[in-house]
Amino acid sequence: MAPSVRSNDVSNNTDTIRHNWRKQEIEALFALPFNDLMFQAQTVHRANHNPNAVQMSTLLSIKTGACPEDCKYCSQSGHYNTELEKEKLIEVEKVLQEARTAKEKGSTRFCMGAAWRSPTKKDMPYVLKMVNEVKSMGMETCMTLGMLSPEQAESLADAGLDYYNHNLDTSPEYYNSIITTRSYQDRLDTLKHVRESGMKVCAGGILGLGESREDRAGLLMQLANLEHHPESVPVNMLVKIKGTPLEAEEELESFEFIRTIAVARIMMPESFVRLSAGREAMNEQMQSLCFLAGANSIFYGERLLTTENVEEDNDVVLFEKLGIVPLTLETNRSDSEEEAELMEEVQANQPKPLYYDAMTANKSSFENA
Ligand code: SF4
Repeated sequence: MAPSVRSNDVSNNTDTIRHNWRKQEIEALFALPFNDLMFQAQTVHRANHNPNAVQMSTLLSIKTGACPEDCKYCSQSGHYNTELEKEKLIEVEKVLQEARTAKEKGSTRFCMGAAWRSPTKKDMPYVLKMVNEVKSMGMETCMTLGMLSPEQAESLADAGLDYYNHNLDTSPEYYNSIITTRSYQDRLDTLKHVRESGMKVCAGGILGLGESREDRAGLLMQLANLEHHPESVPVNMLVKIKGTPLEAEEELESFEFIRTIAVARIMMPESFVRLSAGREAMNEQMQSLCFLAGANSIFYGERLLTTENVEEDNDVVLFEKLGIVPLTLETNRSDSEEEAELMEEVQANQPKPLYYDAMTANKSSFENA
C-alpha cells in the first residue's frame, strides 16, 4: 500500500506539535523513500533548531552494577554474569571533580546514572547534594536512578535537578520480551511523576533489541503521544554485552536506525533527539546522516555508563569537518527566556517614576531599578 504521508508534505510537521499520532501514519513515514524522509526531517529540524549546533552532555555512572532489574541488554543487571566491575554509590567530591572536567571540555549538561530499581531513603540525601552542587557550577543537571515516587521526584526538583532520564526502551507490545521485573506502566508512572514535579523529561529507547519496525513505530508513538513531548529523546543502538541474553542479537541495519531518528525528529519537532549508546560503533558518515536526520544532542566523554563512547577528540574532528558547533546554554535559551531578559533590559532603562504607586508596586519592575 502506498504511504499515506505525502513525500513533500511537511506543513503539518513544522506548524503543529501533535500528540495524536496513529501507528499507520508513523509506519508510513518509515516507509518513505530515504531522501524524502530526510528532507522532511531536515525541514522540521531547521524550523525548530539551529541545524549546525549539537548539545553535549556528559554521563557519569555514580553507582555501577548489581541492579535487581533484568533488562536483557544491560551489563549492570545482577541477573547476568557480565564481568562488570561493580561500584557502590561514589563520593560527592568525585562527582564534582568529574563535573568540573566535563564543563571545561564543553559539556553543558552533567548526567548522573545509578543502577537502581529506585533510590532508597538512605541514598537520597547524597543524590540531592550531588544535584545541588553540580547545579551551582552553572551546569544543567540530569539523573537516571530508576523508578521515582511522586515525593522523590518533588525532592529532586526542589534540589534543582533539571532533567530526569527514564527510557521506555521499546514498544509496549515488545517490552515483556526485554524486561520482566518492572512494567511498562511503571515506567509511564515515573515519567508522569517527573513531569508533575516540574522537571524536564528525558525519555527514549533502544534499537536493535530484536524488535520489528512496528515496535520502533510503537515506541515513538508512546513518546510523542505523551501529554508533553520529552524535552530530550535519547535513541540508543544496542551495544551487545557479553553475558547478556542479547549478546548475539542480529545487527540493526544502519539506515533503519537513521530512519528512526528522522521519524522521531518529525514527530517531536522541538525535542532534542540524542544520539546515545552505540555511537562509538558508528563511522563518521553514519553519525553525519544521523545529524542530518535531526539528531542534535550527544553524550560526550570516554565512557557511556559502562560502555565505550566515541573518544572526545574524534568528536572534535568530526564537528570541525561538518561545521557543527557545540550548543552553549546561552544559545539554547528559549524565546520566552530571551523575551523576559529583553523586557528586563528595556524596563531597567526606563526613567524612574516620580511617585510611588503602592497599588502596582508588586508588579512593577521599577522596584528593582
Ligand atoms: S537498564 Fe537500568 S534498570 Fe535495567 S538493569 Fe540496567 S541499570 Fe538496571
